[in-house]
Amino acid sequence: MSYDVVRKLIRTVGGILALTIGLVVPAAFGMLDYVSLVGATRAEADFHAQYLGRLVESGNFRYSAEGLQGTIAAIAATSETTAHVRLVDENGTPLLEWGPSLSGNLVKARSVVTLAGEPVGYVEVENNVASVLDSLIFLSLIGCALGGLAYLAMTKLPAQALDDASRQIAEHQHRLADKNAQLDAALTNMVQGVCLYDADQRIMVANRRYAEIYGLDERILAPGTSLRQVLEARVRNNVYTEYEAREMVELGIAKFGEHVSEIIVLQDGRHISVLRRPLPNGGLITTHEDVTDRKKADAQIAHMAKHDTLTGLPNRLFLRERLERATRCVGEGHALAVHCLDLDRFKTVNDTLGHPMGDALLCEVSARLQACIRGTDSVARLGGDEFAVVQAGIADPGQAAALAERLIAVLSEPFEINGHRIVIGASVGIAVATLQGADGELLLKNADLALYCSKSEGRGRYRFFEAEMDARIQARRVLEFDLSNALALEQFELYYQPLVDLKSNRVVAMEALLRWRHPVRGFISPMEFIPIAEEIGMIESIGLWVLRQACLEAAKWPDEVGVSVNLSPHQFKSGTLAFDVAAALATSGLPASRLELEITESALMQNTETTLATLAKIRDLGVKVAMDDFGTGYSSLSYLHAFPFDKIKIDKCFVQNLSDKPDSGHILRAVVGLGTSLRMITTAEGVETEAQLLQLREEGCTQVQGYYFSPPRPADEVDALLARINAGGVGTRAA
Ligand code: C2E
Ligand code: MG
Ligand code: MG
Repeated sequence: MSYDVVRKLIRTVGGILALTIGLVVPAAFGMLDYVSLVGATRAEADFHAQYLGRLVESGNFRYSAEGLQGTIAAIAATSETTAHVRLVDENGTPLLEWGPSLSGNLVKARSVVTLAGEPVGYVEVENNVASVLDSLIFLSLIGCALGGLAYLAMTKLPAQALDDASRQIAEHQHRLADKNAQLDAALTNMVQGVCLYDADQRIMVANRRYAEIYGLDERILAPGTSLRQVLEARVRNNVYTEYEAREMVELGIAKFGEHVSEIIVLQDGRHISVLRRPLPNGGLITTHEDVTDRKKADAQIAHMAKHDTLTGLPNRLFLRERLERATRCVGEGHALAVHCLDLDRFKTVNDTLGHPMGDALLCEVSARLQACIRGTDSVARLGGDEFAVVQAGIADPGQAAALAERLIAVLSEPFEINGHRIVIGASVGIAVATLQGADGELLLKNADLALYCSKSEGRGRYRFFEAEMDARIQARRVLEFDLSNALALEQFELYYQPLVDLKSNRVVAMEALLRWRHPVRGFISPMEFIPIAEEIGMIESIGLWVLRQACLEAAKWPDEVGVSVNLSPHQFKSGTLAFDVAAALATSGLPASRLELEITESALMQNTETTLATLAKIRDLGVKVAMDDFGTGYSSLSYLHAFPFDKIKIDKCFVQNLSDKPDSGHILRAVVGLGTSLRMITTAEGVETEAQLLQLREEGCTQVQGYYFSPPRPADEVDALLARINAGGVGTRAA
């Protein structure tokens, strides 16, 4: 029913009610008034008739006009009637009248006056209906007023309420429409596909994304389409694998009322996360989300968590898992070997050719390692240039040794990367598990210890883990600790070894060689503790101490004797080396010309630009710079061009091999020739015999140094040393 009809209805009802109140009520009251007036007139007539009858009966006044006249006058005087009363005889002749005379509309009543049962006359009473009309008018006015009010109450209030209600409904509908539009927009733009079914398994709502995911025509998703039709359309679209397609429709219908949460994989590899939730009304809501990218990202994260990003090899975490699994299979005749590998000279490649080349090399290494192993074995990169191989199911340790040899051999083959020929190598530590339930973590640790020992014994070899290795590593840790305190505890001392000029046969300089007097182990060789000091970051402070101490002590020597101080490549890192040298000279008062610094090739390999700049500053001070251990590295020659060295110190291995390796003689000759042409002093180290001395003199070497003259001696023996050697006392090998 429309609002207008309701409004009309209300007006009609209001009109009827108003009319009822305005007309019917006054009419009814008027009628009642009239009836009561008629009644009252009749009653008055009856009353007068009876009264007059009794008067007549008493015989006093039978029709005696005078007698009646008096009585009637008395009645009239006491009567408050507004009626006009008339007494007539039986012939209708008026006898008496009293009361006001009336005109207009009158109500009349006649009553018989009887005497002994015989009518003797009549009393006629007349009443004016004017009073009834007055009250009728009055009532009509009130009725109209009430009717009007009733009409207003009946039409205005419900109409107002109706308007309010209709406005509220309109607002509500508006809000609902807004909500619907929002819902529609949300549904359309959702990343999830949504499909809502009623209890009869028919679509109520489905969004565009749902159609997109399964490649459906949107028309099929119109409300009313059955679940079966939708599923069949999905299957027809060939998105499912053959196996799934077979189950798809029936299973989908059978599971209508069930909670389902699953990820289905479509034929094209997409992963769709499907959620089905039954609704309280018996219907079903399903959501479908393409989670392929998330799946891929998850898989990638999982892969990244267990693999090395550079080489793609399993990382330490993954290796541990594999090891755990592999150790469970260890048993009789099924041993397991863990190889820890460390690349030799990798740092040099990184420092000289740059990190991108280092990275490329690591990738090549990983490829070679993978090519070396069987399918049951696994390779992992543990970090930096460290790799590990788990060799499963071996019959005896010999097979582990064979693999280690193979690994070292393939990694020692030159690598050709971006036009560079790179030769590295590898050291291997092996731990073998032969017992049931061997601990993977322990195996890895032991293989690492074995690797550590293999590296410290010289590179390019493998070592099996032995129980006492652990003790050795412990000892090393103790040594590291002691070394870190050695400087503060004044356990260092400088020894000096003379450098003799072959022309004058006099000592021209002393090389300062560091000694560590360990409280328990006695003297420890710098060959042992300097690499450790470099590793633990102590070398800078130790080197500074050596520099200051050497300058202080040399300042006390004769003017013609200089001092030579060895520098570690690490001392170039701080950037304050040139300043430290200048300060040491200034503090000691030693002239710069009497100081010489020895650096090895490795100092120039790292950060060449900065190192060369520092060296240039040092030379500007007037300090000489020598290249130590010449010939032991692999690009000594190229570095000779990089910096104008004052001196080349030919490594002792060439001198000591002079007698049995002819090559050494040729190299020595070539280096001396090179030194002469570049105007550099050539100093031969490690001269122990007179024969070596003679040969070096013959080859034109400028200076010599070695046990033949003297081993390194404490500072307080320098004077005696100088005196002895300068006096020609060579060859007396002091203890
Ligand atoms: P280096 O600078 O080449 O020093 C020469 C080494 O050869 C010294 O060993 C010396 O004792 C030894 N030597 C000298 N003459 C002979 C000989 O006739 N025969 C044999 N077989 N050896 C001889 P040392 O003192 O053990 O020092 C070893 C290395 O430790 C030095 O080699 C140097 O590289 C390093 N080193 C020593 N002191 C310091 C230092 O204060 N700072 C730094 N950074 N390195 C130092
Ligand atoms: Mg030296
Ligand atoms: Mg040397």
